[in-house]
Amino acid sequence: MKRIAVGLLAVVAIGVAAAVTFQKQIGAAIFERAAQGGQGRDELASLPDGLHVGLCGTGSPMPNPRRAGPCNVVIAGRQVFVVDMGENGNRNLNLMGISAGDVDALLLTHFHSDHIDGIGPLMLYHWTRGTRTAPLPVHGPEGVEQVVAGFNAAYALDHSYRIAHHGEQVVPRSGGGAAARPFAIPDNSATVMQGGGLTVTAFKVDHDPIKPAVGYRFDYKGRALCISGDAAKSANLIATCKGADLIVHDALQPRLLAHVEAAFAAQGSANTAKIFRDIQDYHASPEQAAESAQEAGARMLVLSHLVPPLPFAYLYPAFLGDAPARFDGTVVVGEDGMLFSLPPQSTAIDRRTLM
Ligand SMILES: [Zn+2]
Ligand SMILES: [Zn+2]
Repeated sequence: MKRIAVGLLAVVAIGVAAAVTFQKQIGAAIFERAAQGGQGRDELASLPDGLHVGLCGTGSPMPNPRRAGPCNVVIAGRQVFVVDMGENGNRNLNLMGISAGDVDALLLTHFHSDHIDGIGPLMLYHWTRGTRTAPLPVHGPEGVEQVVAGFNAAYALDHSYRIAHHGEQVVPRSGGGAAARPFAIPDNSATVMQGGGLTVTAFKVDHDPIKPAVGYRFDYKGRALCISGDAAKSANLIATCKGADLIVHDALQPRLLAHVEAAFAAQGSANTAKIFRDIQDYHASPEQAAESAQEAGARMLVLSHLVPPLPFAYLYPAFLGDAPARFDGTVVVGEDGMLFSLPPQSTAIDRRTLM
């Protein structure tokens, strides 16, 4: 009996050893395929002409493993812009098959930390993936110079390490970092970029006490989309986004957030509870975002910068509340990796996910 058991153990041991060997080979083959189709994937190359917006981050500062910080990528023809760059936004761009090396510029809506804390990786990938000879342009209202100077200072040592290690052929000395491109908005809105059939308009939004705070409207070949940035319900957003096909709007559901506030208060974390109370009046609720989209005459409303975090879709109806009833168009709860495509001179909005 003992001999049979020893024999069985030996067979199992041989089997395990064979499985480990097999696993190594299979794993190496899987990884090779994944590397070919993953890191080097280029979704931009196959995108048809038109205006597109991708969600590279739909989260907020509240932790959520499924959502990066606020990040949007707008593609107009062959031009590529990122609007806000929250934590892990650059990671998502990669996972979506969009190389930071192809990004023409970053546009910032305001300088809350959750909208800028992913700039470092974007700068780095813009330089190294794109073999760029000029820094990443970063457009924004007054204050953008200070933010960019800070990132450049923080990344100065890394910049020198990369050049020393890879050489200037690979990482040109002039190409790293970022360059601030501040703009002024003397009135409620201003054209901040124009070219290649695209017009970008920045407009003021209500995110008090944070000033300046802007949203952006993109017009290309008869199609238009707006990105609210962080905004409570703003008359100026409705006015500037009139006739836009699609609006990406921030959304905070106070009825759900009240439970988070109460939980922190019950724990004795009065300060954190106060923060959750404070943030409720400078973001739009899903219902207010729906009203804005209705008043602007949009076809689709995409909610992003979701507060509180929504770890699974079962929670979406509770988050949306009455929003679907207040908007004749389609309401979408944004998820990281979604891409919305607006073909030229059309009313269609195509939707798919890149992650
Ligand atoms: Zn903000
Ligand atoms: Zn924010």
